Amino acid sequence: MTDSHRDKRYDTIIIGAGHNGLVCAAYLAKAGHRVLVLEAAGHPGGAAATREFHPGFKVSSGAHLLTQLNPTVAKDLRLASHGLEYAARDLKTVALDDNGQHLVIDGGAVAGVSDDDASAYARFHAQNQRFGKVLDGFFNRRQPTLVKRSWDDAISLVKLGWSLKRLGKADMQDLMRVGLINIYDVANEHFDSELLKAAVAMDGVLGSHMGPRSPNTVYGYLHRHIGDCWGSTGPALVRGGMGNLGSCFANAARGFGAEIRCDSRVALVDMEDCRATGVTLDSGESLRADRVVSNVDPKTTFEKLVGYPSLDAGFARRVHNFRSRGVAAKLHLALDALPAFRGLDAALAGERLLLAPSMDHIEHAFNHAKYGEYSQAPVMEISVPTVHDDSLAPSGKHVLSAVVQFAPYALRGGWDSARDAFTQIALDQLEHYAPGIGGQVLAAELSTPVDLEREFGMAGGHWHHGEIALDQALLMRPIPGAHQYSTPIPGLYLCGAGSHPGGGVMGLAGRNAARAVIKQKKFSQEHAA
Ligand SMILES: Cc1cc2nc3c(=O)[nH]c(=O)nc-3n(C[C@H](O)[C@H](O)[C@H](O)COP(=O)(O)OP(=O)(O)OC[C@H]3O[C@@H](n4cnc5c(N)ncnc54)[C@H](O)[C@@H]3O)c2cc1C
Repeated sequence: MTDSHRDKRYDTIIIGAGHNGLVCAAYLAKAGHRVLVLEAAGHPGGAAATREFHPGFKVSSGAHLLTQLNPTVAKDLRLASHGLEYAARDLKTVALDDNGQHLVIDGGAVAGVSDDDASAYARFHAQNQRFGKVLDGFFNRRQPTLVKRSWDDAISLVKLGWSLKRLGKADMQDLMRVGLINIYDVANEHFDSELLKAAVAMDGVLGSHMGPRSPNTVYGYLHRHIGDCWGSTGPALVRGGMGNLGSCFANAARGFGAEIRCDSRVALVDMEDCRATGVTLDSGESLRADRVVSNVDPKTTFEKLVGYPSLDAGFARRVHNFRSRGVAAKLHLALDALPAFRGLDAALAGERLLLAPSMDHIEHAFNHAKYGEYSQAPVMEISVPTVHDDSLAPSGKHVLSAVVQFAPYALRGGWDSARDAFTQIALDQLEHYAPGIGGQVLAAELSTPVDLEREFGMAGGHWHHGEIALDQALLMRPIPGAHQYSTPIPGLYLCGAGSHPGGGVMGLAGRNAARAVIKQKKFSQEHAA
């Protein structure tokens, strides 16, 4: 520790330099706060990370496709001037079936299906964009509380009501209806093609402990597609991998005056008179601040960094019941050549690829996870970023990055003895879709949810820091009592994916939290004066 660190008192300490922690730091520093960000890992960015997994081969080791980056956050933080470059934008989604057929989704258009399905998809997409606009209004604001009265909350509720009313009667009714059913029923209502239904269902369940028939999957779909309302027609690839985006966020925060210390794991939130007053690091060093903001998931924050003895029993029970059981594993392959997917033109190999032939296939794959088993036929979301970005592998070689579901965190018997078997299952599945890929593999790495928990510090290895479900969303995220970024502990706030509006590399949780902190500080100053 330098003398300057020892002597300094901060307005705000942020635990975790995930992208939301960095966004929060940037907005707070911009507003004049003295901010220190403490990160356990050796680099900032959290799950927006690039890692060399085999000599010369690098991959986005957490998030791999940028689907939801909020454009206002990107503009406010001047991410472009901090080096953000895209290797590709507006990728298409290519869904492959197990007979060598495929369909291609490009924004609101879909090719490779009947004319009826293509028209139905255009209508479905247009309606979801209207729904998304309503959600956008919610996502950009702190959610109201229904128990305490405040002008801000009243305004939020009026805006919420108004945006719903503006949808019109038919859409409003439909939104209420589909919100209560599941993506399986919704896809069946709209489409005939099993492959198209499965592609839609995948977007409802990716990263979640849910199958297509689970409740909340329509909300999951809308959450994932919020980027459609912000001007993109498909995911983007960050040049150099997601770690470069993490660095851009860090540079933006530093540019506004925030300090970031990596390799600084917080062990405890310090309290005096039941108020958060700073943190103690694993090293034993204590740092003080007027407030502490946690980018760490809510379960870890309250269970480990605060500790149950400091929480009232009702709140502690809600923390305990917050669902954050990860089911997504990540497979990284170093490949000798570009894999050839059956029936797919090589020109499409760099798009977002889905291996999920039908909704029933996805549901069966999920069934295993319910009972603590991994799927024998997992579904996958694949990216081969080296088609667009030659900085990730030696010339002529490729990297394949795949989200592989379903692989439950709490696997019966544990992952240590099962990792190799599940990796082989995933490779066999890939071999079916891309015959010969096995012979191209130079190295394979599988990160299970347990590994993801270790690498990124997220409880349960859950990429949203907790299930995106209506009982854990909007004005109930993560749990009542901590849903407005403040918590029952004065001076302690949340700013990560576990708070509203949830996960994905979006930046809004960090920005909304910063606004809540700024407002609270102003309020305290006015009342102290
Ligand atoms: C395998 C995987 C695939 C994904 N795919 C996508 C995708 O394609 N597209 C997408 O948009 N999203 C994807 N996501 C989700 C997305 O990455 C996350 O929702 C998002 O990164 C969360 O950001 P955050 O800043 O809130 O938290 P995080 O990125 O989790 O950051 C939290 C930070 O806190 C740090 N930390 C934890 N404990 C401590 C401590 N005690 N002291 C100090 N620091 C600590 C961690 O090291 C980490 O840096 C994926 C996630 C995973 C894991």
